[in-house]
Amino acid sequence: MSVAEPRSWTVIGAGPAGLLSARRLAAAGHSVTVLEAEGHVGGRVSRVRVDGLDMDAGAESFATRGGYVERLVEELGLTDRLVAPTGGPAWIVGPDRAYPMPAAGWLGIPTRSLAPDVIRALGLGGALRAAVEPWLPRELVAPDAMLGEVARRRLGDRAVERLMAPVARGIFSRPVDELRVDAAAGGLAAEITERGLIRAAGHRRANAPAGSAVLGLDGGVATLTDALAADARAKGVSIVTGAAVSSLMRVDQGWRLWTEAGRYDADAVVVASSRPAAAALVPQVERAPDKQVALVTLSLDAPELDSHPRGSGVLAIDGVTRAKALTHATAKWRWVAREAPRRHLVRLSYSLETAEDLAPFALADASRLLGVPLKDSQVRDLVQVVWHDASPTRAGDREPVPGIHLVGAAAGFSGLAAIVDDDQRSTLGA
Ligand SMILES: Cc1cc2nc3c(=O)[nH]c(=O)nc-3n(C[C@H](O)[C@H](O)[C@H](O)COP(=O)(O)OP(=O)(O)OC[C@H]3O[C@@H](n4cnc5c(N)ncnc54)[C@H](O)[C@@H]3O)c2cc1C
Repeated sequence: MSVAEPRSWTVIGAGPAGLLSARRLAAAGHSVTVLEAEGHVGGRVSRVRVDGLDMDAGAESFATRGGYVERLVEELGLTDRLVAPTGGPAWIVGPDRAYPMPAAGWLGIPTRSLAPDVIRALGLGGALRAAVEPWLPRELVAPDAMLGEVARRRLGDRAVERLMAPVARGIFSRPVDELRVDAAAGGLAAEITERGLIRAAGHRRANAPAGSAVLGLDGGVATLTDALAADARAKGVSIVTGAAVSSLMRVDQGWRLWTEAGRYDADAVVVASSRPAAAALVPQVERAPDKQVALVTLSLDAPELDSHPRGSGVLAIDGVTRAKALTHATAKWRWVAREAPRRHLVRLSYSLETAEDLAPFALADASRLLGVPLKDSQVRDLVQVVWHDASPTRAGDREPVPGIHLVGAAAGFSGLAAIVDDDQRSTLGA
């Protein structure tokens, strides 16, 4: 790729979106500086040390949808590091029962309603109620209808409360009764109108790529952002860590950015921070609610977990624990089990309104969700990480001011697959 008029660009943030933009711009012949607030690259795709082991601090896998991330992994020479999760089912823990997530389903919608695992989850009455759905009259579903409300009508309350609600809470961080149908999946309302809910879910599931819906990397997905940073540097990008941009202003034809360490001038700027950070720097960027998620990782001496009593992890029904979900990392990822012999790593996730220390809840929540009594003396290490802007919403304008471009979370994209896809379509600097 070449560029008619090479320019200087500054990228704010060295998460995946900033690093992808930086290497794209450098490959097109521009001069690029990345300014990163933290002392390391990666953003939410970076590492945290737990009990001497480098674990993913935020993202731990990526969606295989579209094959976007796998292509990037190949381009970066990391294909031999691709790993699939072990495939143990996730469980759901409710106030009075724990059950594996039914094998045939999509977003918690059971697509084979009378399968034994659905009867185990819903009871025979609940399963029969869900099973009649394909024979109910079709209804016109508006894109902004609430998924919970539509599903309660069509499948009954039990399927919604026991299967769909914990999935919505785990994936979208919101109650299923407050989740718009088309926010759960684009075009879903029209599909339910046409086919009904179970057939629409079955259709989505059948069209998902074969094999695992998510993959990881041996060593953690942070391996990807490390490789992106190395590749960007090799293309001539300068990455400055420990350089939080505190303000920026227009000067002549370009922009001046300030950090504690000094100022940087550029013809154009890419904002690749979280949305709240972007809105703090650029008043024209729409503000969006800042949902926070805390991840608490426990390293445990607990041979009673060797049998992986809850498969790869658990989704909690609201109210059972403060935690909304638990990942049994040593059960889910072989590379974690290999690196952490004779111990178990479990990661709990919490939605937060304000900053809070969750250590006092973590062990009791882990015991409850894993169905195994665990004592303080079994805890080898406990590490909490808090992430802001955990559910970004789409920005109306990707270039709110001429010369300022929003990418990644700042633009409302969430997940590596969506961010890599957006980068591959990008015309930035062309
Ligand atoms: C708990 C959690 C788990 C997740 N799990 C997954 C998963 O399993 N799979 C998946 O695909 N996605 C997952 N995601 C989403 C994924 O991590 C994000 O979509 C992705 O990291 C966003 O990339 P980004 O580069 O836009 O932003 P970020 O990764 O947030 O990077 C932004 C960077 O900007 C820096 N920055 C902010 N302000 C400034 C400033 N003023 N000056 C300089 N630098 C600044 C930050 O320090 C940070 O490094 C998860 C997210 C969270 C919160």
